[in-house]
Amino acid sequence: MSQIERGWRRIVVKVGTSTLTAGSGRLNPPRMVDLVRQIAMLRDKGADVVLVSSGAQQAGRERLGFPKELKSIPFKQMLAAVGQSRLMHLWEQYFELYGIIVAQVLMTREDIEDRHRYLNLRDTFESLLQRSIVPIVNENDAVATDEIKVGENDTLSAMVCNLIEADLLILLTDTDGLYTADPSKDPDARLIERVDKIDDSVYKLAQGTSSELGTGGMYTKILAADMAVHSGTSVVIANGGRENVLAKIWEGTAPATWFPARITPTEGRKRWLLAQSVTAGSVFVDEGAARAIVHAGKSLLPVGIVRVEGEFERGAVISVRTLEGQEIARGLGNYSSRDLKRIIGQRSHEIAEILGYDYGPAFIHRDKMVLL
Ligand code: GLU
Repeated sequence: MSQIERGWRRIVVKVGTSTLTAGSGRLNPPRMVDLVRQIAMLRDKGADVVLVSSGAQQAGRERLGFPKELKSIPFKQMLAAVGQSRLMHLWEQYFELYGIIVAQVLMTREDIEDRHRYLNLRDTFESLLQRSIVPIVNENDAVATDEIKVGENDTLSAMVCNLIEADLLILLTDTDGLYTADPSKDPDARLIERVDKIDDSVYKLAQGTSSELGTGGMYTKILAADMAVHSGTSVVIANGGRENVLAKIWEGTAPATWFPARITPTEGRKRWLLAQSVTAGSVFVDEGAARAIVHAGKSLLPVGIVRVEGEFERGAVISVRTLEGQEIARGLGNYSSRDLKRIIGQRSHEIAEILGYDYGPAFIHRDKMVLL
């Protein structure tokens, strides 16, 4: 399923511990450098890339001389805390070879479920990607107790896709993808190249597989794919150990299992907007603006806004209402309420002069709006 015609715009690459260690118990620098080279290539083709990297705990084990394994959570947290800085240190050095700056983003489930933190995270990713920095993401194992833990990075990477509206998620693992049976036991096992619908039979195929070093197996990858395809991200599971696997994925020639997105990221965003039960504030618009939005498919400009209600930050979910209070649309506001109050009723070309900066002419861009 090559996308050469349009190219992938935003890619999340997830690498598991087994890929980073090339199956040994230690981080494998040549393997990591090779991945960095390939990520640099994706960027040269014009894609933004976010790397979700496991391997912190394993790096901690290695750094501490493989201490006696304990089952306790504090022990694992200790491993991750030691290993995370080592892991980042290595990534930073290797990306530096290609002149690429990286940033560490550690998160937990709570950070995505809490709306404020979600918006903050989204802004952080946006501002990193705008500056061509590669965010390197892992779970914040040191603070994550069971309730707030995602648990494995397959699911975490699907959540990141949703945050940055990725169009492709690449899950690199130690097999080529999903098979019709366990290839180590069944000589007739065949690689499934494309899955259009993730149903029970797909989950069944994935059950019982697990990777020795990482937390997830094929099952968690299918779960992640299920989440991602429904929010507009296509997913591919492929073998991180294959030469030039990322280039081959780009070209659509890697042996792999593809899960095409069920909707576009724009539709995904619209569904998400509709699912929000509370909005952070409301803007009341004049008749002309209401008409332009509802009938002409236009963005909402500050000039059409008469009144602002609520205190909100840039990027919050905002209700667009008529002067009588009827909600006609919902969207992501491009300015905070503080800024907006200073520019309502004004022409867009005056925004920069009034505020000293601008985030574009629209308060809510058409692509970030859904009509009700
Ligand atoms: N956050 C864990 C680590 O870096 C990995 C979780 C996983 O294997 O998916 O060690």
